[in-house]
Amino acid sequence: MGPLVFAGAPILGSVSVAFTACNSERYNRRLVEPQVKPRATTRRPHPSQVTAHHSMGSFANFRQLDYFQLDDQFSEDELMVRDTVRSWVTERFLPGVMEHFENATFPMDLVPELAELGVFGPTTPAEYGGAGLNNVAYGLICQELERGDSGLRSFVSVQGSLVMYPIFAYGSEQQKRRWLPLLASGKAIGCFGLTEPDFGSNPGGMLTTAVKKGDEWVLNGRKMWITNGTVSDVAVVWARSSEGIRGFLVEKDAPGFSAPEQKHKFSLRASITSELVLQDVVVKDSARLPEGNGLKAPLGCLTQARYGIAWGGLGAAYACFDEALQYTKSRIVFDKPVAAYQIPQKKLADMATQITMGQMLALRLGRLKDSGKLTPSHVSMAKRNNVAMALDVARVCRDMLGANGISLEYQVGRHLCNLESVITYEGTHDIHTLAVGQELTGIPAYR
Ligand SMILES: Cc1cc2nc3c(=O)[nH]c(=O)nc-3n(C[C@H](O)[C@H](O)[C@H](O)COP(=O)(O)OP(=O)(O)OC[C@H]3O[C@@H](n4cnc5c(N)ncnc54)[C@H](O)[C@@H]3O)c2cc1C
Repeated sequence: MGPLVFAGAPILGSVSVAFTACNSERYNRRLVEPQVKPRATTRRPHPSQVTAHHSMGSFANFRQLDYFQLDDQFSEDELMVRDTVRSWVTERFLPGVMEHFENATFPMDLVPELAELGVFGPTTPAEYGGAGLNNVAYGLICQELERGDSGLRSFVSVQGSLVMYPIFAYGSEQQKRRWLPLLASGKAIGCFGLTEPDFGSNPGGMLTTAVKKGDEWVLNGRKMWITNGTVSDVAVVWARSSEGIRGFLVEKDAPGFSAPEQKHKFSLRASITSELVLQDVVVKDSARLPEGNGLKAPLGCLTQARYGIAWGGLGAAYACFDEALQYTKSRIVFDKPVAAYQIPQKKLADMATQITMGQMLALRLGRLKDSGKLTPSHVSMAKRNNVAMALDVARVCRDMLGANGISLEYQVGRHLCNLESVITYEGTHDIHTLAVGQELTGIPAYR
């Protein structure tokens, strides 16, 4: 991967060093190293672009909207994390995403590079293999990954927020020592099994059971829509026991366990989605998360992941907005660029305003989290707003690219399709509406 790698250490881990020792030689060396230059694309030009003068792979010339100069609000370290991940996404991920989206595959070959970057569980303390970053830096990582693709951000969110987090927060010391370094280094992949065929928004109704027999547990049930299930080494499985909901670490080769892939998705195609089938799966009591008791345990993980999604929505919106801006400035209709007409300018002005408000929301969310003041209802408002905003932006941008907007040679259509999943998973838009409503009124309207 060349210039982004420091031998033997996660790149963003070196940033965490920078939080405590800004004059570290390694950190300063990184700052003066040139960012990765966009690689020349090998994709053939689309015939319609001959007149549009629109470069294939607009992502290479990406410029992030920063209308209110919010970059001033981030520390140097936070910006360095953002720019490092941004360069990696441009250089290493985006050139191949179209093929992965079309083939419904995830680029597993990039997992070691993601691990080297340090994006798996980046807020996890260094003693467990994490990068020890703050939450704003984690948010910026999610933003940049989702500028690439929601599937990429989903992979990283699940690994960090839904697998490493529950092990860190609810696991035994032995579980932490065994799994966290493996997961941080990408040597093990994990998934999070909460949703079932009949229980998504209401996970408390789950049918998967855990029955205690001596110092073992017998698990039975079925999970559905589980990101990374088929490629995982370990599944965090939530099941109902006589004592309430409990979490278990189920390894991929456990007899009775399987994770068949779910096919035929039109959304999040560059992401693996799976069923988890548990038929008399026996696990030791030592595989139970000892502190993961009750529904509040999986919901606590979801708060972590939803936090990242609130930032991720911004990344998808940036990609679409920038592509539409570049496109409309170069696409000539009736002898003028599309961007010279009033209707496209209104669309751009509306989108820039909504994105800017989303940026402020995410930034404040991150600062609240880093100061320990964040509540799940803050996260609900930000996830709800920023994903819906991104979906609206993607839809408008897709339209502004005309017929090219439905081509996977451009980004807008892919983001639009992906965001249909993002607005549904990790709490649907409606459920987050009701969470905010409950916060405001004190009355739960979802039951
Ligand atoms: C690509 C993808 C990846 C996913 N990855 C994972 C994963 O890794 N792990 C995991 O556990 N799950 C995962 N999910 C599942 C996801 O979290 C659920 O799909 C989501 O929680 C919604 O549940 P549901 O699909 O059962 O919809 P339902 O709960 O059946 O909802 C259907 C509709 O009813 C609305 N609704 C539901 N309840 C109410 C109410 N009380 N009041 C008003 N309206 C309501 C919803 O907003 C929605 O519009 C994934 C889903 C997708 C699409």
